[in-house]
Amino acid sequence: SSSGRASQVVVLGLDNAGKTTLLRHMKGDLKSISGRNAMKSVEVQSPHGSMALTMASWDLGGRIPDRALWRKYYKDADALIFVVDSADRRRLEESQNQLEDLLREDDLVDKPLLVYANKQDLPRALPGPELVEFLGLRTLKRQWHLQESTSKTGAGILEGLAWLSDATS
Ligand code: GDP
Repeated sequence: SSSGRASQVVVLGLDNAGKTTLLRHMKGDLKSISGRNAMKSVEVQSPHGSMALTMASWDLGGRIPDRALWRKYYKDADALIFVVDSADRRRLEESQNQLEDLLREDDLVDKPLLVYANKQDLPRALPGPELVEFLGLRTLKRQWHLQESTSKTGAGILEGLAWLSDATS
């Protein structure tokens, strides 16, 4: 951003979607913010400035626990990353429900959304365009972008971040 401060980005998605693996691919130190509800955070340099990405490091299941705590992060967030395991078709609906919940959060209204359609290396992975339809992204009244990714190898991650830095600058 032009103010010089790092953009604040919250990283969400079901457990096992690949969030931790994704953060490990970012350049920068993966710091653990300890506490009762552990968070992981990484500061990334991009051509447009720096971004601080924060994610919860507990297993969420489909729920978002401790909403009060998360709202603290939502308030300061400039953007939202949502990670989907594109190959886990059994949990796609759960994932969609979680995203719907998030997009209803007052503090996240209007904030740009980057979806990583992750695990594209797996044979059963739903392709990006189909996930766009499944998640109903076209009807959103905010900036959004879906990026196919394989966080295991890092494929697609930087492309997603490039979009995000444009969207938040
Ligand atoms: P988190 O719970 O969202 O933080 O998910 P993790 O990053 O811990 O990943 C969950 C599991 O999925 C791990 O076994 C990862 O190695 C695996 N995984 C993550 N990303 C990918 C991917 O792009 N492709 C494949 N095949 N596996 C992945």
